[in-house]
This record gives sequence, structure tokens and C-alpha cells, in this order.
Amino acid sequence: MSTTEKSALYSKLPSTDEVLRLTEIGLLAAQEGHAATADAVRVVLSRLRDEIAAGTLDEHEVELAVSGIREAVEHQLRKSLRYSLRPVINATGVILHTNLGRAPLAANAIEHIHETAATYSNLEFGLESGERGKRDVHVERLLQKLLEPARSAVATIVVNNNAAAVLLALNSLAEGGEVIVSRGELVEIGGSFRIPDVMSKSGAILREVGTTNRTRIADYERVINEKTRLLLRVHRSNFEITGFTEQPALEELVSLSRRRNLPLMEDLGSGALVDLTSVGIGGESGVLDSLRVGVDVVTYSGDKLLGGPQAGLLSGRSDLIARMRSNSLFRALRVDKMIYASLEAVLLAYVKQDHDAIPALRMMRLTKHEIRKRGAELAAQLRSARWSVEIIDGDSVVGGGSAPSAVLPTSLLALSCDGRSADDLSEALRNSSPPIIVRVEQGRVLLDLRTVFPAQDQLILSVLR
Ligand SMILES: *Cc1c(COP(=O)(O)O)cnc(C)c1O
Repeated sequence: MSTTEKSALYSKLPSTDEVLRLTEIGLLAAQEGHAATADAVRVVLSRLRDEIAAGTLDEHEVELAVSGIREAVEHQLRKSLRYSLRPVINATGVILHTNLGRAPLAANAIEHIHETAATYSNLEFGLESGERGKRDVHVERLLQKLLEPARSAVATIVVNNNAAAVLLALNSLAEGGEVIVSRGELVEIGGSFRIPDVMSKSGAILREVGTTNRTRIADYERVINEKTRLLLRVHRSNFEITGFTEQPALEELVSLSRRRNLPLMEDLGSGALVDLTSVGIGGESGVLDSLRVGVDVVTYSGDKLLGGPQAGLLSGRSDLIARMRSNSLFRALRVDKMIYASLEAVLLAYVKQDHDAIPALRMMRLTKHEIRKRGAELAAQLRSARWSVEIIDGDSVVGGGSAPSAVLPTSLLALSCDGRSADDLSEALRNSSPPIIVRVEQGRVLLDLRTVFPAQDQLILSVLR
């Protein structure tokens, strides 16, 4: 195409101002703002100019594009104003899926955020005294009640996440001194949280003892010296050591810490507040277990087994917690009113023993039979010439670095469609609205309804259809 021919095509394009003066575009601008609308017009026109420059449009096509400019601008505007953070359907069966936002929040938590965040609140104001108060009080009273069976007078503070909790505790209790940790517990948790790195950022000195697979209480005892400030136990979270292994019992660590007058801290990671053996998850010791045995400070996440918002909780001996509260790092790591509101609501559900109000716990408690029943209903409605659906047995996992090998028996929908490959199908589902995230195993698309809210079953059906 010659330069003159291209110039003729360019001259068919309206100017930005001409497009903005169109009635429909004016209405869009009134709704969505002039600046965003003008941006969308410029994007659409510049795309057309690029296509003309590349010689991919003839005269007729340019005319068609110009006549469809209102739709193109509206489409572009909607796309640019759409939220980036969007809800997805989690059909993976991984309950605490870090990439999908870990624990979904309970309805009462959303309600409490709504009623306290959209207005002023008594976040740091004593309504009885009329004086400045502390934001911790809103969750501390509930945690005291929940943790009381394990130990009286437990203090708790809340920071941004458990990584921050560990950093704050190490800095408050051991800056400039040594912290003893077993080599078998120097873990890395997803998202580059590594115990040795956090230790060095905290200003404490890591004193490794034992070996990867075996550490004895005598190994700890041997390295205690005048610079030792803390004994640390770290939950291995996402990995296990099996075979020829040895790790001192928590009780032994407690008795050593008492004998040598050194605090003992445990980074629990997940930190369950209920006994998970009832749902078939064994060997996961919870916050109460550790406090009962005599651990001085435990750190745990708000959005793992607790089932609440992202937060890091530090519970334990009040004199140690007081040192953390007065550390200026605490001010830098503190959480906002929305987190307090949702944590308070979730903890209140625990106090009321209303565990089904907490979505992550409810999902853990679902039986294979209940999941299979929902799957069978979906399958019956979906089966057609295009879709083949099979119901098979499988496992859900808890995720979130908790109970690494714990699985919950589940029932899966195995889907295939018109001979499309599983990867192809999984990509199409990921790009649907709403996006559906599935598992692909052995060339099959698998849906685990354990992590799908029952109200989303019909949504899945309509997307698949
Ligand atoms: C998950 C985990 C962390 C990090 O917690 P976040 O809340 O994700 O910051 C730290 N330690 C252990 C043992 C964990 O399992």
C-alpha cells in the first residue's frame, strides 16, 4: 500500500474530540469519568492507526471500524476499569491455597468489616474511659477465653503475617544474642520465608544444632552460653523427615528452657485453634497444645488453619509479649481496623463453637459422601454429547503449609469435552467468567467440589455449558 493510499485511510479516522462529542460516548464519560473515557478513545484510535500503518486494513475495513467505534471504545473502557483482583472458583481441592488467597472469610467477618470500616470506630478509644485505648483489646479478650484451657493470663498481639510475627519476636527477645534452632527445622516456606534469613534480619544470631535428621536435647544444652537468648522450635510445615530421625519432645525443650531460664518460642505456622483429629488430620499440634505443654511464645498465621484474614499472631507469656508490644518494629508491622474486625468476628465464631461459620473449617469437615452427592447432581445435569463426566475417588489437601501429608478423602469430577486436551480445557476454564481453577492429572481435568461453595455449583454448570 502506498503512502498516499495510507494517508487517505488515516483521513477517514475521526479525531479524539470528535469521538468524545458523540452522544453515547458523552454518556459513558458522565458515568465513568472524562479522563478514563478519553484514554479509551485514544487507545482505540491509536490501534486503528497502527493497523493502517501495518497495511492490514483496506478502505472498507476502516469504514467498518469507524462505524463501530462506540462499541470499541466502550469495550476498551470496561476492560481498563475492570478490577484486577477478582473472585475465582477454586475447584482444586486445596483448602488453604496460598495463590488463591488462602482462607475465604466468614460471612460474619465480612459483615463486621463492613459495619466498622465504612464509618468511625473505637479502634483505639476506650468508650468507658473516654481515653486513648489499645487496638489489641478487640481480639485479646477473645483469645484469652479461647486459650484459657491451656494456660491462664495469655497475652496476644497481632501483626501483618506470621513472617512478621517471627521477625518481631526474634528482634524483641534475642537481638544481638544467640537463638538455638535444630538443623532439621531450618525451613523455607513458600514466598521466600527462610528461617536463617529472618533470623539475620532480626539481628539475632542463629545457633544451629544437631543434624538434618537427628537432633537431641543434649545438642541444645551443649551450646547454651552467656549469649544465648532464646530456644526456638519451628514447625516443618511443608515437608517431612522420615526414617532415621529424632527430635526432642516439646516437653524436653520446655524443661531445658526452665532449667536454664531461657524462653522457648515455637513458630507453629498454621496454628489450629481446634482439634483436627475430628476431621481425620492427625499429628498437627495446635496453639493450645503448645501453650499447655509450657511453650512461652507461639507464633501462627491468621489465614491458615485458623481460617481468618492474613495476620500473624503472637500468644504467650505476658512479660514477653509486653516486650514485643513496646518494640518500635511492632508499630511498623501493625494491622489495620479491617483485620481486627475480621479476626474478632472469626474468633467470636470459635468462642461460640460455630465452626461451620468458618469456611475453611467447614470445607475440612465436609464428608466424601456429601461431596459425591453434589458431584453426582452436577454430572447428571452436564452429561451430553459433548461432555463426558466420571465420578472418581481422590484426595483433597489442607495446604497452607499445614499438615503436609494430611489428605482428606474426596470425590472428584473427571471431565473431558469433545476430545479437547486436558490442558486446553483447563486453560479455557481459567479464562472463563468467573475463572474456574481445576487440577489436571494424568491427562484429565479434575474438579474437587470440597473447595467450591455450594452456591457456585450452578455457576460451574453454566460456564461448562
Ligand atoms: C506459613 C508459615 C510461615 C509464614 O507465615 P505467613 O503468615 O505466610 O507469613 C512461617 N513459619 C511457618 C512454620 C509457616 O508454616
